[in-house]
Amino acid sequence: MTTYYNNYPKELQEELKRIANAIVAPGKGILAADESTATCGKRFADIGLENNEENRRAYRELLFTTDDAIATNISGVILFHETVYQKAACGTSFIDILKKKGIIPGIKVDSGVVDLMASEGECTTQGLDNLAQRCAQYKKDGCDFAKWRCVLKIGKNTPSYQAILENANVLARYASICQSQGIVPIVEPEILPDGDHDLERCQKVTEVVLAAVYKALSDHHVFLEGTLLKPNMVTAGMQFKGTKPTPEQIAEATVTALRRTVPAAVPGVTFLSGGQSEEEASVNLNAINNQPKRPWALTFSYGRALQASVLRAWGGKKENVKAGQEELLKRARANGLASVGKYTAGSVVGAGADATLFVANHAY
Ligand code: 13P
Repeated sequence: MTTYYNNYPKELQEELKRIANAIVAPGKGILAADESTATCGKRFADIGLENNEENRRAYRELLFTTDDAIATNISGVILFHETVYQKAACGTSFIDILKKKGIIPGIKVDSGVVDLMASEGECTTQGLDNLAQRCAQYKKDGCDFAKWRCVLKIGKNTPSYQAILENANVLARYASICQSQGIVPIVEPEILPDGDHDLERCQKVTEVVLAAVYKALSDHHVFLEGTLLKPNMVTAGMQFKGTKPTPEQIAEATVTALRRTVPAAVPGVTFLSGGQSEEEASVNLNAINNQPKRPWALTFSYGRALQASVLRAWGGKKENVKAGQEELLKRARANGLASVGKYTAGSVVGAGADATLFVANHAY
């Protein structure tokens, strides 16, 4: 085994570090608005709206034209390919609208989850083909960071060695390709909340998965200071029959797992909400930021937990755009406070703050 490698050029290191640190600046986090066309269909079905390009565009316009105050708590937005090339009704591209607010555009670059043959329902994520060229183009078009989601499942025999190793390696290849093009990779090994397991089991699985991910990132010489991690919080399974862990127990298990596996060189951890209600996601993040010994910024990269109330208030109607934007401002503020440990439970009430956002087997 040789340990030789060519170090990243100094300017590239500085560029990646600058972007990653800006995303996790104090009080800020990410709006994950990168739902694929199919996932948009599911969200729109809940409010009785047709899933067509114009409705998707109108919805994203609502999000991105929210008052400039949104940038106090939102540093980056993850986009889906289609959205990168869409414009607001005024003719300005969404990318320019975001940049004008000081929000960094990001892009989902994986092309989805596929089955792992001979596994117990496990999966990996595709999309490495042409990734360097796609990243180069996205960088030119204004995106400074990317996301790639891998999915792991807790079962009696899972996650398997096959799934842990495969997903760690594909995340590492993705991360190194992004960095070669000046794009900060968000590394997302999501452990699904499905199952009747307890908090302790989720903690152990999270530790094993993250340890494998950071070994693979090291093997691929990924520049950790120019990356972000997007993990699940450590929670009991959705079908767990025992007493539900408190936010403090969730926070302790989560930060312990991270401390044991995530190098301090990583500037920030941006949690996914994973089916928690809007309020739960804020309360848990707040408890996490009241734990001791946190060498990284710990903030949010929420999809459902930032958008559930927005969708409900908007309902696909022009006259409700403002109401939808108010909900986004509220949730962004709540999570911004939680990211610095200053959110008071119940202090921000939204149109759907307590509704469960759990989607069973949310792999595809
Ligand atoms: P949720 O916050 O809805 O889990 O989505 C975040 C995300 O981007 C998952 O890839």
